[in-house]
Amino acid sequence: MIYWDHAATTPPFDDVVDTMAEVMKLHYANPSALHRSGEAAAKLQKRAREVCAAALDVQPDEIIFTSGATEGNNMAIKGAAMQYSSRGKHIVTTGIEHPSVYECCRQLETLGWEVTYLPVDAEGVVDLAALTEAVRKDTVLVSIMHVNNETGAVQPLADVGRIVKKRNPRTLLHVDGVQGFGKVPVSLSGWQADLYSLSAHKFNGPRGMGVLYIRQGVQLFPLISGGSQESGHRAGTENVAGAVAMSKAMRLSRENQPELYARMTEIRELLLQGIRKIPGLVLNSSEQSAPHIIHFSYPGLKPEVMVHALEEMGMLVSTKSACSSKLSEPSRVLLAMGKDMEAASSGIRISLGKEHQLGDAARLIEVLAKVCGNLRPVIEREGN
Ligand code: PLP
Repeated sequence: MIYWDHAATTPPFDDVVDTMAEVMKLHYANPSALHRSGEAAAKLQKRAREVCAAALDVQPDEIIFTSGATEGNNMAIKGAAMQYSSRGKHIVTTGIEHPSVYECCRQLETLGWEVTYLPVDAEGVVDLAALTEAVRKDTVLVSIMHVNNETGAVQPLADVGRIVKKRNPRTLLHVDGVQGFGKVPVSLSGWQADLYSLSAHKFNGPRGMGVLYIRQGVQLFPLISGGSQESGHRAGTENVAGAVAMSKAMRLSRENQPELYARMTEIRELLLQGIRKIPGLVLNSSEQSAPHIIHFSYPGLKPEVMVHALEEMGMLVSTKSACSSKLSEPSRVLLAMGKDMEAASSGIRISLGKEHQLGDAARLIEVLAKVCGNLRPVIEREGN
């Protein structure tokens, strides 16, 4: 089996698994406790925060540990909305955000907030002219992702930051960085980001851990009340083992990013060349997309049929994003890019990770060509 679903989740580094087990065994004490064991756990957690901060070139007190990016995105968007509602009740986002951003915005709309959903072009890149027009005096927050989880489209965040801050210096910029970190370069200062969410299981870290960067001076209304953990931003006993293991994954991912990018770019090139030669396949990712996500459609075929046919031949791929792959609706992301219903309903995502080598691409293309050939009569029989 070759696993091509790293955008859904990644296998943890060996060191991450070992660290997690070791800290759970030896440092199970509550880091808020006053005794020696508690102090030792608190020290480990402090160090983990420093390592995570260093991986993002920010300060340790700007890092909040979360359970993942769904929580981080909710904390950032609803927390900013509730904290700064006296500034206005307007949010700007795009039509291609992950459900953990999109649904937050939809929920805020039911509470009287106005949300502008920016259009994207055919390659899935946000319309900067529309952004310029959208940001107003009462815009509290702009939330735009770094790399799209379905197509790999990379958003021009330096331009986004420049436009947002020029139009309204008080408007906060939130970036859902989940699919970018460890794969493509990240620059929170270059983007002028105020808030940035990550999920550890997308960069070979542990499941159930994440980071929310909150720029110094920015306040968020805490969504989880209770004790004063995480500087009052997130109450609840901390997951020290998870934080230490995540910090290892974060350091390794940052260090490995340039090499991984170069290798994935070569593999992606072979995959793109191969996909273009297979009759019936339509590429949805562009040359400018991040190298680890390739998305294509096979119009006329239900994507789950393709997923299972590939699985039979040892290749594990996915349809759209993991959290919506069981829904049979067409992809909201592809529709926003102007694709028709057929293409938006038949998408397949291949996502690369640190284990892949050049030879894997040739094997996948060979299998894909065979599967498409076998399935073509099915499409023709069904009259598509
Ligand atoms: N944002 C993006 C772009 C994602 O791809 C995902 C997960 O697929 C999330 C947010 C949610 O992350 P988590 O699984 O940590 O809740």
